[in-house]
Amino acid sequence: MQAFTYAASPSRIVFGAGSLAQLPAEVERLGARRALVLSTPEQAASAERVAALLGERSAGVFPRAVMHVPIETAREARAEAQRLGADCAVAIGGGSTTGLGKAIALDSGLPIIAVPTTYAGSEVTPIYGLTEAGVKKTGRDPRVLPKTVVYDPELTLTLPLAMTVTSALNAIAHAAEGLYAHDGNPVVALMAEEGLRACAAALPALQADPRDLAARGEALYGAWLCGTVLGSVAMGLHHKLCHTLGGSFDLPHAEVHTVVLPHALAYNAPHIPAALLRIGRALQVPAAAVPAALQALAARHGAPTSLAALGMPAGGLDRAAGLAVQTPYPNPRPLERAPLRALLQRAFEGAPPEP
Ligand code: NAD
Repeated sequence: MQAFTYAASPSRIVFGAGSLAQLPAEVERLGARRALVLSTPEQAASAERVAALLGERSAGVFPRAVMHVPIETAREARAEAQRLGADCAVAIGGGSTTGLGKAIALDSGLPIIAVPTTYAGSEVTPIYGLTEAGVKKTGRDPRVLPKTVVYDPELTLTLPLAMTVTSALNAIAHAAEGLYAHDGNPVVALMAEEGLRACAAALPALQADPRDLAARGEALYGAWLCGTVLGSVAMGLHHKLCHTLGGSFDLPHAEVHTVVLPHALAYNAPHIPAALLRIGRALQVPAAAVPAALQALAARHGAPTSLAALGMPAGGLDRAAGLAVQTPYPNPRPLERAPLRALLQRAFEGAPPEP
């Protein structure tokens, strides 16, 4: 057994169908009396439902979260929290809404309760992102980690099938990279393999019936584990490429993860035999077939498999390759421009992944 360091995240996790009903007690448990409820405009009705559930413990609703947390929105939300005298925030939604909660916490130390409705995993990480003048900056700060996470699979029944598949693959990407993280450890490896298995196993049932509550529970359980991996260890090439492509070319988050993951794993393949063994076990395919199996998984469930389909301009591939080798994340295989440019070409075209 190799030496390792393991630090457990201090979040409290409340999991189960119908667990939203426990939210008022969870607010009380934090000693809070006035919760500001956050959501995107699309999920404003869910936020109003949460506010009604909280009754006099609701300070108000701020339904204006958008992707990538523009600093202007973060400032508005912070001002609203102050104006209403909020002493905690409840973020109901995907990574964008959780991200807004984190932006408030970063500034004010306000405790956040996250109620995730996608599989992004942000709710269990101390990672925040803020976009200022078109540039997204990310950082880690323990203050932004939600104090409590209420995982209620019933809230994911409305997640459209296309987003269900790409969001699950976003979760799988956290687990896959966690398995070869330079600062990995045996506990994180267990969570990664089990999270990956649960997310992948849920997809066929959700394809057949997106309202299958048992499968929704399985996927959300997997997302929790995969998110915990993301919050615990360093990510590598895959996340670097996704941040570069998402940030510089404004491509949709979960979809970029879906397209890039098979190619990033193929690039690293000769250097990560143990990780591929675990991923293969979770997906029930041979280790050597993992990159192709992940691409096939996306295709089988109607998810995009090319950057071109996401609106990536062909003329941007050179720039993306250049950006990817700047301030590289730690990765098992050194990041070299020429093979990465070739990787991006294959990802652009939706070609099979190659080492
Ligand atoms: P999202 O939060 O942007 O949600 C996409 C859309 O789906 C929104 O309109 C949302 O309202 C809607 N939606 C969410 N759940 C729904 C449901 N159950 N039913 C119907 N509609 C629903 O998407 P996301 O992929 O969850 O989050 C992406 C963002 O999160 C990115 O900005 C990414 O950088 C960030 N992120 C951060 C971390 C972190 O650790 N900091 C981790 C993962 C993602």
